[in-house]
Amino acid sequence: MDEHMIPLEEARRIVLAHVAPTEVVEVDAWRAVGLPLAEDVVTDIDLSPFANSAMDGYAVHAQDLAGVEEGAPVTLSVVGHEAAGHVFSGEVAAGEAVRIMTGAPVPPGLDAVVKYEDVTVVEGDGAEGSRVAFATPAPVGANIREAGLEARAGEAVLSAGEVLTAAGAGLAASAGCARVRVRRAPVVGVLSIGTELVDPATVPSRGQIRDANSAAILAAALDAGAEPRFFGAVPDDEAEIARAIHAMVEACDFVVTSGGASAGDYDYVEAIARREGTVLFDRISLRPGKAITFGLIGGTPFLGLSGNPAAACVGFEMLARPAIRAMRGHGALARPVQDAVVTSRVKKGQQRRFYDRAVVARDAVTGALTVDHSFSQNSALLGTLQHANCLLMVPEGLKGYEPGDRAAVVRIDLPEGAVL
Ligand code: AMP
Ligand code: MG
Repeated sequence: MDEHMIPLEEARRIVLAHVAPTEVVEVDAWRAVGLPLAEDVVTDIDLSPFANSAMDGYAVHAQDLAGVEEGAPVTLSVVGHEAAGHVFSGEVAAGEAVRIMTGAPVPPGLDAVVKYEDVTVVEGDGAEGSRVAFATPAPVGANIREAGLEARAGEAVLSAGEVLTAAGAGLAASAGCARVRVRRAPVVGVLSIGTELVDPATVPSRGQIRDANSAAILAAALDAGAEPRFFGAVPDDEAEIARAIHAMVEACDFVVTSGGASAGDYDYVEAIARREGTVLFDRISLRPGKAITFGLIGGTPFLGLSGNPAAACVGFEMLARPAIRAMRGHGALARPVQDAVVTSRVKKGQQRRFYDRAVVARDAVTGALTVDHSFSQNSALLGTLQHANCLLMVPEGLKGYEPGDRAAVVRIDLPEGAVL
């Protein structure tokens, strides 16, 4: 193995050791969906603050209906009504009922709700002044949601570190927290390097290629929870690259470049990083994407990915994505890994670890998880990554797999921490 080449786990450990969580900021609770909370959310009131009806119907004294028998219904007088937002404040004596809507507070002293469908109006229209008949008894507490069912005042309804869901945003709002505290999105600078690169809006002339990596890496940064910032594409010119990198490390929390990362004649990235900062590694046991430089420039973490588009994407997935998530305070940094049966031969002609683009599926007949990698693994191709849902791992020590072998697949389509 190439003497500079370090295992992926070590590379990830080094990257994670050089990023820190961003500052805590306050945002509208709904905007924090998918983010870990930086602080507990404590409710200032009981949730719900009052006992309320789970049904549209009549609130009664359960005792009044205790004597109901088959063929001998009990009739009560309707003395008022309760709708959401409209509170009945009168007294309710024995033999009386209150018409009530779902969510409305149950008047003090009444201890059961009977739904409309189980009540017969015998006089009037069912509203105040009517008489209504009940054919079955109602147990105490029937159709009543107790006060404090969700939480009591002063309790934490959400804990620091917990990832907020849509339901959680609603819960925070109920708790009086329209805004919650999370970590700011790290600003991730993105730069493409290559004299051959042209803007996607340009039709390339011979020898030129459209800059695909910028779009791919900006998207990957956004998806990881960063605030991506595009610094354009620069030619393979050392002074221009250095200028762009200086601007980036000034303005960003984390810097990602692609291109100019291998040891070709015009590859300056590593040289700049060595001269102006610290290089912490420059080769990883990884295909695609062996030529990855990581270090610090002006104290800012810097990741130089190789220009081959699939390699740049896989390198970002393996190293930049966990770093961005760590900066946002996520505890779960690893994508779920599954065991699957390989359906076609996988050959590995090199020592380094492979992550082949692949598709995992559940066999309809056997129920077994199978993984198909039988498409081109050329690192220039992005379509195969677009259509892959996993990366099939072939560890350093193996020469490949035969059909029927079991292999580990990294589910790049599923969130970190997902339980399979
Ligand atoms: P490099 O890392 O500069 O040696 O680039 C490796 C390969 O990736 C070359 O074929 C480049 O043309 C290609 N490449 C580099 N940067 C990009 C980019 N931003 N978009 C698409 N392809 C690129
Ligand atoms: Mg290049």
